[in-house]
Amino acid sequence: MIQAPRGTKDILPAQASQWQFVEGIFREITARFGYREIRTPVFESAEVFSRSIGEATDIVNKEMYVFDDRGGNKLTLRPEQTAALVRAAIQNGLAARGEIERLWYAGPYFRYERPQKGRYRQFHQFGAECLSSPHPESDTEIILLAAAVTKALGIDEFRLNLNSLGNKESRGSYREALVNFLYAAKEKLTEESQQRLVENPLRVLDSKAPQDIEACVGAPAILDYLDTESKEHFDTVCSILSECGIEYVINPNLVRGLDYYSHTVFEFQSTALGSQDAFGGGGRYNDLFQELGGKATPAVGFAMGIERLLLIIESLGKFPAGEKRADISVIVQDIRFSGTGNDIARQLREKGYSVLTDISRRSFKSQFREADKSGAAYSVVVAETELGQGKVLLKNMQSGEQREVLLSEIKELAL
Ligand code: AMP
Repeated sequence: MIQAPRGTKDILPAQASQWQFVEGIFREITARFGYREIRTPVFESAEVFSRSIGEATDIVNKEMYVFDDRGGNKLTLRPEQTAALVRAAIQNGLAARGEIERLWYAGPYFRYERPQKGRYRQFHQFGAECLSSPHPESDTEIILLAAAVTKALGIDEFRLNLNSLGNKESRGSYREALVNFLYAAKEKLTEESQQRLVENPLRVLDSKAPQDIEACVGAPAILDYLDTESKEHFDTVCSILSECGIEYVINPNLVRGLDYYSHTVFEFQSTALGSQDAFGGGGRYNDLFQELGGKATPAVGFAMGIERLLLIIESLGKFPAGEKRADISVIVQDIRFSGTGNDIARQLREKGYSVLTDISRRSFKSQFREADKSGAAYSVVVAETELGQGKVLLKNMQSGEQREVLLSEIKELAL
């Protein structure tokens, strides 16, 4: 039997309604914040990501699906959205004259990771990006949006980790101090982190290996290296969040995996998840437009993993009650009446009801059984006696009550 590739999942109809619930909430909340949708291709030129996420990151080094197409173009299945969205913005002139663009997206992303609970090779994210504002009010808008989505999904308990990576200058002086500190403790680091120390020292702070965590105790904190501009920016973010009643924890070790962040970075965590406890994150990326060949454009955004949100909502038991397949089932006593049955269904659907008809040529009795199973609130019964008088029976499936309805009145039927 041919199996789905490792790290991928089929989303079956029973789960699809849960996905629709989560995606529906996201659409609703982003609309309330005035965000508009953008869709970009699932594959991009590989350099979109290698130039932006950074050559020395796990995503680019180990996890990207890169391939040559038949024309010899080096392509990649997108591992995330931000860089591709910036590519699209530059190409299409979005935010080109400094106008604010509020954008949201949702779709599949691909990383060649070791699959485990909450970690897949094809996974799904939704997120939002706010282009053109350098001000902390746009950082907080994005965080407030992410928090509003989380709460609307019924996830009341979460931890919001917050940090600032400052501007380039702050980061430069911090990097120096960190490298000095870590070099002194080099022997205690894992081999991987010793490598990071050379290529991308901030990422050592990101390591989950106990050995590295221990070696980082007492490391200089970036917040002590912020210059006045960076510090003011971060202080304003913190005070707006506090005024809005959003709780956060300042975590100086939060650097996020990607190279393109500056100033605010944040991550949402839930205790309902196992080791993969982050369900969303983001930050500001003021240099990304230029790195991809565009005009300098400040921007900030976040992304959330849909699979992880589903795991949390499931564990909290917060999914809405089971789906209903149809409002009305049309039941025909005899196959001779299937034309009439279908015409009744057509009229009811035009009125906006969801209607099931029998397409299995089942017996009269088993059509009733099916109607019960479908959860339809009503059934329309097309039977010889009533049909002779130009009527059908309308049955309330819950109370069992039934009444006659003229065929000519079907199109005005109100339930
Ligand atoms: P990132 O782009 O790495 O910051 O990821 C943002 C969010 O996407 C994470 O917080 C996860 O919820 C989700 N995510 C990232 N990688 C995966 C993966 N391999 N499988 C499932 N979800 C993921």
